[in-house]
Amino acid sequence: MNNINKLIFIAATSGILLGLIIKFFPNLFFVDYLLTATDLLGKIFIKSLKMILVPLVFFSIIVGVSNLGRGKNSSVIWKSTFLYFVTTMSIAITLALVVMNIIQPGIGLSIDSWQSANIGISNTMTIPEFFKQFLLSLFENPFHSLASGKILPLIVFSIIIGIALNDKQDKFMAAKNIFTSLYEVMLKIVHWLMLFAPLGVFALLVNMIVSQDTELFSQLGIFIFTVIFLIMFHGLVILPTILYILTKISPMYLWKEGRPAFITAFATSSSAATLPITLSIANDNFKTNKGVSNFVLPLGATMNMDGTALYEAAAALFIANLVGMDLTLAQQLILFLTAMVASIGAPGIPSAGMVTMAMVLQVLGLPLEALAILLPMDRLIDTFRTTINVEGDLVGALIINKISKS
Ligand code: ASP
Repeated sequence: MNNINKLIFIAATSGILLGLIIKFFPNLFFVDYLLTATDLLGKIFIKSLKMILVPLVFFSIIVGVSNLGRGKNSSVIWKSTFLYFVTTMSIAITLALVVMNIIQPGIGLSIDSWQSANIGISNTMTIPEFFKQFLLSLFENPFHSLASGKILPLIVFSIIIGIALNDKQDKFMAAKNIFTSLYEVMLKIVHWLMLFAPLGVFALLVNMIVSQDTELFSQLGIFIFTVIFLIMFHGLVILPTILYILTKISPMYLWKEGRPAFITAFATSSSAATLPITLSIANDNFKTNKGVSNFVLPLGATMNMDGTALYEAAAALFIANLVGMDLTLAQQLILFLTAMVASIGAPGIPSAGMVTMAMVLQVLGLPLEALAILLPMDRLIDTFRTTINVEGDLVGALIINKISKS
């Protein structure tokens, strides 16, 4: 994956350079052919992302939810773990929404080469009307949702299947194994897509630069800086404060003892790859009850992603600013929920958040072409996201450990 990230970086730089050359010498003989080819390649890349998105999220959520009942965890552990995951992810998303609404990077630019999808959510709806419409839209014939790419009703259906599979009947085992195996197949396809990503990013960037002015890049800089600052704030202030209030464990102790896990997360950009280290730190350094850590940490590595949730909310607002779409309160509520679902649905592997980012953009009717400017800097931001994701899991295990003892 490291090599792919390097390739994406090289592809992005060459795409920008070539775009600039074409911008300054638009009459070169190859320009027309080249732009037709890059347009085609960019479109294929975006369409293949759309292709994998729905099945990936569908199987990932079924597998995640169907594993919830694993082990003999008392309902206190179960419920408090869930409450903790949802609360901390909500805080992370709220932080992103509030600060991004104040700073508004990208506002005033209008990227006209991106086509907005049909916006499913009207921007004139009142809040009660919005909730009514929203709730009604969650229940649909799953085959219809699959075919039309409607993600939210599909997620509801996958959660229901996952809950049903928690009932450990023998006759359900075959279904569970099939879903798990299909999920692995989807991960494999995502891996292939990442191999294609450098070419896709190159093509999309050439086309974007040809039709854009360079003001975009200074706005991108402000966005990257804001996101990294927010992720650090969540990890250095919010999570340690919650931990201290609930367990009296000091932030210094958390960072000192948890350091190997945080550094591994930073270096690998994968909560899943870091999991063995997070587990051994929870058990050996913090002496948590193994029943608690074996339940909270693996679940957290696939479902609890504060950094990813924060990033996805912030990035969607940035893209909305870039295309001149003013998201209403109702649309920001949708964004809140979708960012949460997207981060729960993202597997704990590098750049997984980028694939589910496509889902957030799609639900809000924002252009998927925007991924071309998010992907090149993803390696950098993913390191921070993953570190905070892992910190959130460890803090969760320590809090649930304390709660389960009292
Ligand atoms: N790389 C992240 C993780 O493993 C997921 C993401 O892409 O945000 O936690």
